[in-house]
Amino acid sequence: MRRKPAATGKAGRSADDLPSLIAGLSRHYSFQAPLSDPLSLILWENIGYLIDDARRQALFDEFRARIGIHAEKIARAPHALLLDIAKRGGMRPELRVERWRRIAEIVLDTCGGDLSAALRAMPASKARTLLKRFPSIGDPGADRILLFCGIDVRPSLDSNGLRTLVRLGFVVPGASYAATYRAAIACLDRMGPRKADWLISAHMLLREHGRNLCKRAVPLCLACPLDKACAHAPAAGL
Ligand code: SF4
Repeated sequence: MRRKPAATGKAGRSADDLPSLIAGLSRHYSFQAPLSDPLSLILWENIGYLIDDARRQALFDEFRARIGIHAEKIARAPHALLLDIAKRGGMRPELRVERWRRIAEIVLDTCGGDLSAALRAMPASKARTLLKRFPSIGDPGADRILLFCGIDVRPSLDSNGLRTLVRLGFVVPGASYAATYRAAIACLDRMGPRKADWLISAHMLLREHGRNLCKRAVPLCLACPLDKACAHAPAAGL
C-alpha cells in the first residue's frame, strides 16, 4: 500500500516546512503574474459563474475591449451590451449585469471613481472592509486584492490552496470554511516570510497544485511530487 492514513489530522509541521514546500512547487509549476488593479480583480471574480479560467479570461478581455475597466464606462454602458457579454458567462446573466452596475456604483459613490487610489489612502483594515462590500468578495477575495495590488502585505489563499494546505497537514480543518481559512492564513503568516513576492508565489503555486493534482474530488497522489511529505488520507477529502 502506497500511503499511510493521516491518523490525527493535526498540523504538526515545523516552521521550515512551508518555505521548502513552496520552493518545491516552484520547480513544478509556473504562473503568470496576476492582475494587480483592484477593479480588474473584482470584475474578474464577477465576470462569469462556474466557468473555467480560459473562458473567464476570454470574457474579461471582451469586457475590457467593449466596455472598459472604468466605473464610469460600466455605469454608462447600454444594458443590451452588458447583457450580451453576460450571457456567455453562465447562468443568470441578468444578475451578473446587476452586479457589474453595483460595482460601478460603489466605486463612483464611495471612491470618487478611483478604487485603487481610495484603497491606498485608507488603513488596510478599512480597505478590507470596503472591498467586502463588492459582490462576490469575502475575506479571501479581499486579502487577495490587497496582496496582489500591493496595498498590504498579507497572506491570501483561494479554495485550491486551502485544500492543499489542509491535506498536507499544515492546517487543522475548523468548524467552517471561514474558520479553516483563518487557520491557514495564520499558518502562512507564522511559517512564511512576510514578503509580497513570496506570499503571491505561495498563493499562486498552492492554487496551481490544487487545480492540477490535489483536486477536490479525487487528489492525484500517485503523480504528486509532495506525496512523501503529505499527511493526507485520500478518503478524508475537504
Ligand atoms: S495530491 Fe495527494 S499527495 Fe499531493 S498534496 Fe494532494 S493529497 Fe497530498
